[in-house]
Amino acid sequence: EWFRNKGSVLVIGYARSGAAAAELLTRHGFSVTVNDRRTRPDSDEALERLERAGVRFVFGDHPLSLLEDSWLFIVKNPGIPYHMPLIMEAEKRDIPIFTEIEIASWYTNSPMYSITGSNGKTTTTTLVGEMLDAARMEPVVAGNIGTVVSGLVDSIRREQPIVLELSSFQLLGTEWFHPRIALLLNFYPAHLDYHGTFEEYQRAKWRMFRNMEAGDVAVLNRDQPLVAEGAKSLAADIHWFSTEQLDFDDGAALVGDDIVLVRDGEQRVLLPIGEVGLKGRHNLQNLLAAAAMAQAAGASDDAIRHVARNFQGVEHRLELVRTVDGIRFYNDSKATNPDACKQALHAFPKDIVWIAGGLDRGISFEDLVPDLRGRVKAAILLGETKERIAEACALAGVDDVVLVSSLDEAVAAAKQRAVTGDVVLLSPACASWDMFTSFEVRGSMFKEAVHRL
Ligand code: ADP
Repeated sequence: EWFRNKGSVLVIGYARSGAAAAELLTRHGFSVTVNDRRTRPDSDEALERLERAGVRFVFGDHPLSLLEDSWLFIVKNPGIPYHMPLIMEAEKRDIPIFTEIEIASWYTNSPMYSITGSNGKTTTTTLVGEMLDAARMEPVVAGNIGTVVSGLVDSIRREQPIVLELSSFQLLGTEWFHPRIALLLNFYPAHLDYHGTFEEYQRAKWRMFRNMEAGDVAVLNRDQPLVAEGAKSLAADIHWFSTEQLDFDDGAALVGDDIVLVRDGEQRVLLPIGEVGLKGRHNLQNLLAAAAMAQAAGASDDAIRHVARNFQGVEHRLELVRTVDGIRFYNDSKATNPDACKQALHAFPKDIVWIAGGLDRGISFEDLVPDLRGRVKAAILLGETKERIAEACALAGVDDVVLVSSLDEAVAAAKQRAVTGDVVLLSPACASWDMFTSFEVRGSMFKEAVHRL
């Protein structure tokens, strides 16, 4: 309870989450300084309001001299790496470094249901939110998905569950954060530029469970041996989800063509997969995971079934944009790594005109070769990785490869090559920051180009 001993706190990174954390901590009696490398923004209402509330700002740099003052703890933006000099120096001096999620968790009694994993977080978080909503539990959905949780903990009622999408970056800065139900979707090598090794990346995700006790529920992926191994050291009760087998007493699984829920060993068929609204096998995994979490949270089968039937997917995730001349155009801009892209490729048996490429993170595209072979008839490549992806295409026997320098060009080239019955799929397998400010902007520009056809 040392954090009740109000003192000076340094918030590093003035983005939405930093602003919300600064405001929350100020309201709870801390004296807050916010530091950002950017120059001071000209007119910023939120900044002026924070200043009136007593927050001090240091813009333009991350000077080491900031550490001449003494800080109770630091709140770090999840995107700022730990190897930044100011952070390294703070660690050397044993100043605790948290992310905004940790701070928010101190100031709420609402049950927190948190979700992490390499791929499928946003889809699953949205599904859980919809299921609890259908069950009239009035959930608030927050975290990595958009709404900053520090900004809402003081204004919601204590019965309202908080459904929280968490990235490994956010989890690294948690200490006492304690979800009542926590869901780990899957592990794929991602963000290794930030975490160093796959092992460290996994360790960050397992942090989510460290304060959980018997009576809390961990919802885990039965189909990943890595996860089953880690499950052995958890104190929480374990519920599972699986697309392969039902050999557990609590959770959700695919059995033949049915989605089946199980609780205390008692099985109920929820619905046949033919009635599921979402596309793609990976989304069945997300649906099973969400159903298992919603069941653990107390949602009725009817509420879960209603969402399983009617939910059509989240924007930029295998989203059908438009059908032109019998050619379907899909926006999967959110596929920012090869594993995510692999899932999208597998949603279609063949005749894909694939648009891909983006920021170079040094990962290999060779893994995609078997997925491209026979499925992709033409590849339109752009961004920093276009030559490297072209090499993977050559290995996969994709002969029709075009390198372009804009999305407009890509859409035009794709349209030229596709015929009735084909699919044009933007699934870049790379982050967007070499050419765009975000995957959302990339996806929206793609959609605009498609609508202009
Ligand atoms: P996240 O929030 O973890 O990035 P999203 O739900 O936004 O995940 O989905 C991003 C992309 O990841 C999707 O477009 C799809 O290609 C892929 N994906 C989604 N769910 C899964 C899954 N369960 N397993 C593997 N890949 C997935």
